[in-house]
Amino acid sequence: MRARARALLTTLAVLATAATTTLTAATPSQAAACNGYVGLTFDDGPSGNTTGLLNTLRQNGLRATMFNQGQHAAANPSLVRAQVSAGMWIGNHSYTHPHLTRLNQAQIDSEISRTQQAIANAGGGTPKLFRPPYGETNATVKSVAARHGLTEIIWHVDSQDWNGASTAAIVQAAGRLTNGQVILMHDWSANTLAAIPRIAQGLDARGLCAGMISPQTGRAVAPG
Ligand SMILES: [Zn+2]
Repeated sequence: MRARARALLTTLAVLATAATTTLTAATPSQAAACNGYVGLTFDDGPSGNTTGLLNTLRQNGLRATMFNQGQHAAANPSLVRAQVSAGMWIGNHSYTHPHLTRLNQAQIDSEISRTQQAIANAGGGTPKLFRPPYGETNATVKSVAARHGLTEIIWHVDSQDWNGASTAAIVQAAGRLTNGQVILMHDWSANTLAAIPRIAQGLDARGLCAGMISPQTGRAVAPG
């Protein structure tokens, strides 16, 4: 027993030393690295792809904004909670993903309010950010979103992942992001998932960090 206890203590001491060394080495370079922030966004989840996406984002030290469809949040509430647990921010992307500009005000209100409710019911909080499907908006969409306390967020850079862009093209698109800008990507894109490690490396090399999107300005800022 005593020998085993001594062996365990030795193991713990080695682990503690290793942990201290890692923290000491990582902290200063990470703190000095953020010269600006970009907003990574993933639309249309949560889905069967979300767990893999969250794992990859976490492994690469990235946080992102997930613009969830209300119908998917209602069907997968545990995945909404997993998004929050992984450090992601949750936005509203309508309930059924229609062309909102073809709907009347009551229909638009239903799409937005049911999604607020589904995300809140799942444990994702009450979103403050709204992305209309296809980026299609008009004065009615904007006013309904505003009435629900939502800031409309389109994008500065389109990864084109929805249009069959290659992993290399998605990495290149992220390479065009400048401080404060937001990029469109999707929860369901395998090429986007594959691009994430190189997106992280590219941002790191340019001193950019993944930030939250400010509801005040619609631009990426330091996580608050
Ligand atoms: Zn969408």
